[in-house]
Amino acid sequence: MRFEEMNIGPSVLKAVREQRYEKPTEIQGAVIPRAMGGEDVIGCSATGSGKTAAFAIPILEKLERKGGIQALILAPTRELALQIAAMVGALGKYRGVEVLPVYGGQSMRAQISALRRTEVVVGTPGRLLDHLRRGTMNLGKVRTLVIDEADRMLDMGFLPDVEAIIRETPRSRQTMLFSATMPEEVQRLGRRHMRNPAYFSAEHKEEKPKIEQACIETAQAEKFQTLIALLEKENPSSAIIFCNTKRMTSNLARQISKGRFQACAVHGDLTQNQRERAIRGFREGEPGILVATDVASRGLDIEGVSHIFNYDIPRNPQDYVHRIGRTGRAGREGKAFSILCPRDLENMMKVERYYRPLTRYRLPGLRPSPSGFRVAEEDIERPTRPRRHRPRRWN
Ligand code: AMP
Repeated sequence: MRFEEMNIGPSVLKAVREQRYEKPTEIQGAVIPRAMGGEDVIGCSATGSGKTAAFAIPILEKLERKGGIQALILAPTRELALQIAAMVGALGKYRGVEVLPVYGGQSMRAQISALRRTEVVVGTPGRLLDHLRRGTMNLGKVRTLVIDEADRMLDMGFLPDVEAIIRETPRSRQTMLFSATMPEEVQRLGRRHMRNPAYFSAEHKEEKPKIEQACIETAQAEKFQTLIALLEKENPSSAIIFCNTKRMTSNLARQISKGRFQACAVHGDLTQNQRERAIRGFREGEPGILVATDVASRGLDIEGVSHIFNYDIPRNPQDYVHRIGRTGRAGREGKAFSILCPRDLENMMKVERYYRPLTRYRLPGLRPSPSGFRVAEEDIERPTRPRRHRPRRWN
């Protein structure tokens, strides 16, 4: 189906053409007609599948100018809220409606006055709840509610906030829920608050990003040199390097920038302004490397990230999938390298059990590692509490 065959009005269609979207992505083809017909929809799809436009287009079609807040989009992070608001704004530029991102760290007063004029609110749960408690935002006219990246929102402990916000919207509303994974908690959220939703999964289909993945074994003392050797070998046009701690993020960005590559750190301790500045700079290509914690790993739509490096293996295996999802977007190819030291082995095992086994290589020359990673017993950091399940062996 083409966009022209989807009953989309001329002003939104004009904006779609300006975005140079030639044909709907798989998820758009499935979600837009159903959502335009008023159905509740659950989309299981990673970022990069075109899900933002899938919910933005039906929302924009239904808006009445100056009709109060008619659409509410919940997002887990400020960056994602900003990015969604920018895309809804771009697709709605000829509809003459206001789209407002609402997140913590902004002036409350400016938000309160903007909230009176806006038709679409894109916000993080904490700040939205703040407005509801102060009585500075009325959701009584909301016709469409979108819960984006529901799994991440729940991982971050936002479930009670999300439910409190949902209760402030009319029961007659349409609800759309999007999530990269569908754990039981997300399904339960859907069952509790949606009416007979149409379920759509874009997994394992043509939209699946093409990401080449490799795991590079090295010793703890050579971790940094391994990263630099990989950067030199790959010479990425733009890369995100993930670390597990804020301190490591800052240190690594500083250390990398002493050499021929320029890197900038993004993590939760920076002010909103500093984070936005770093991400804006990176989007524009300066510097070419962003060193980030998982705060930045979700929902960032940075065009054309060619490489992902896991300097640390994430503790939560779902984060692995979200990290590598920053590359290989919208049908492009991407590469993801995970640097594996003995102390990250436990985390890697969790990733491999949750996701899939990764081929192991060693430098120089990315030789396949013949016998898997041999680690001395004492190199593995054992959890202090006894574990119920022993990790299965891999080679
Ligand atoms: P999303 O999954 O919403 O984060 O979108 C990922 C990227 O795909 C964004 O850069 C969109 O601008 C782009 N995109 C969305 N829909 C289309 C389409 N129909 N054709 C080409 N690119 C698209």
